[in-house]
Amino acid sequence: MKKFFCVVAVCAATVFCCGCGEKRPAKIQSVDTAMGTVIQQSIYTTDELSNGAEEILDLLRELEEQELSRRIDTSEIWAVNASAGNKEGYMLSPQLAEVLEKCLDVWKQSEGAFDVTMGPVVSLWDIDGWAAGEREGTFVLPEDELLRDALEHCGSEKLQLNESRLYLPEGMMLDLGAVGKGIALDRILEYLEKDEKITGAIISAGGSVLTFGEKPDGSDWKVSIANPAEPSESIGVLTLAGQWCISTSGDYERYVEVDGVRYHHIINPATGYPADSGVSGVTVLTKDGFLSDALSTACFILGPEKGTVLAAQYGAEVLFVNRDGSIRMSDGMRKYFQGAK
Ligand code: FAD
Ligand code: MG
Repeated sequence: MKKFFCVVAVCAATVFCCGCGEKRPAKIQSVDTAMGTVIQQSIYTTDELSNGAEEILDLLRELEEQELSRRIDTSEIWAVNASAGNKEGYMLSPQLAEVLEKCLDVWKQSEGAFDVTMGPVVSLWDIDGWAAGEREGTFVLPEDELLRDALEHCGSEKLQLNESRLYLPEGMMLDLGAVGKGIALDRILEYLEKDEKITGAIISAGGSVLTFGEKPDGSDWKVSIANPAEPSESIGVLTLAGQWCISTSGDYERYVEVDGVRYHHIINPATGYPADSGVSGVTVLTKDGFLSDALSTACFILGPEKGTVLAAQYGAEVLFVNRDGSIRMSDGMRKYFQGAK
């Protein structure tokens, strides 16, 4: 992904004194790129010399380069994928073993809609590459035969995980694109919890947002939900106090259009084609980053009926924006969502 911009704007990190000897936190803001997406941070801290924003960026780049990216040859996922067909299997790190187990759980609960073994089909479509303008020529749909062959090399039921040893059959490929930013939010949360001088933060990694602590004036966090039909506009706002993770999956950012038909990046494992559940955007609200990201992808594929049941199984709230513009949400979501007037 081209580094299309890299601005780090550290707002006058003045720490105000309240007159009572107590420091009032300053706001540090930064915008940068990592994991193929834009990372926006607003951090409130009583440490005027805080380099929290830079450290969080380093943490994300490390996560991408050392653990999660299937595109970078230094990552563990790359090594796992390179082990496909290897009879000895691959000994996963404790972190990746835990991630894979959680992915397999969502795979089971979603009846296979969410499946991190979709790598061969995802890379055959290569929607990310086309949508990012990184490919030359004209996008053409994958040929049926290639798609059938790629699909035969997908399916979490073909994985064997014994303790932490993973046996990945020949031709298979893991792709953690659907959970990478959620995992990133979990790591950022660990970081924020350790820094006693950070009193609040709101951090977004593409479509995944983390809220933490509180603002100096005690007001709630506001997280806007984009209108899939007009992504620069909002359909409404979530008003949240304290720590939350909010992930959105949609068909309006990473897609290509051919003859008026939109082909986006979320693939239905049952067909090998972009999911077509009548939904344009799904937002999931929960405390856990991994779950918010995994469930938003799964719910996008499953659609409102099954998606609402799945989210409830994990205690998460969910909001669907259907292609016709109508909105459907879980009962618990109503407490946090205010529609745009
Ligand atoms: P989500 O709904 O969260 O996820 C959609 C993504 O999940 C798809 O893009 C695909 O990767 C995967 N997927 C599709 N169907 C399924 C399914 N049925 N089950 C499970 N997963 C599915 N993008 C670039 O263009 N260039 C990069 O260099 C790049 N590097 C990245 C590095 C990392 C570590 C990560 C996590 C992502 C990177 N990305 C990159 C972006 C990535 O390819 C996905 O497009 C992105 O993660 C999608 O996130 P989302 O929140 O928009 O959608
Ligand atoms: Mg996701």
